[in-house]
Amino acid sequence: MQLVQEIAFYLVFFAIPGVVGARIAWTKGRNPLLWLVLNGLFAPTLMVTIFQGPTRAVPGHYRQCPSCHGYSKWRESVCKYCQSELPL
Ligand SMILES: [Zn+2]
Repeated sequence: MQLVQEIAFYLVFFAIPGVVGARIAWTKGRNPLLWLVLNGLFAPTLMVTIFQGPTRAVPGHYRQCPSCHGYSKWRESVCKYCQSELPL
């Protein structure tokens, strides 16, 4: 049973935050490998991954406003910064 507990420990504190962080980073146009390593080694950096903004428009996740160049979520049709209409 000890082995199962050890595997569970590494999964919860290293593997899962690493994979989740890599996935979130990828949806924001960031380097998934870098964030896999960072979040995997130190799970609290997952908060950075979640709250940092996207670096570029990512189809299906984020779009860039043509007038103010801010990033909005893909499902939003109006820019959250300047209220202008976002093209589809
Ligand atoms: Zn805008």
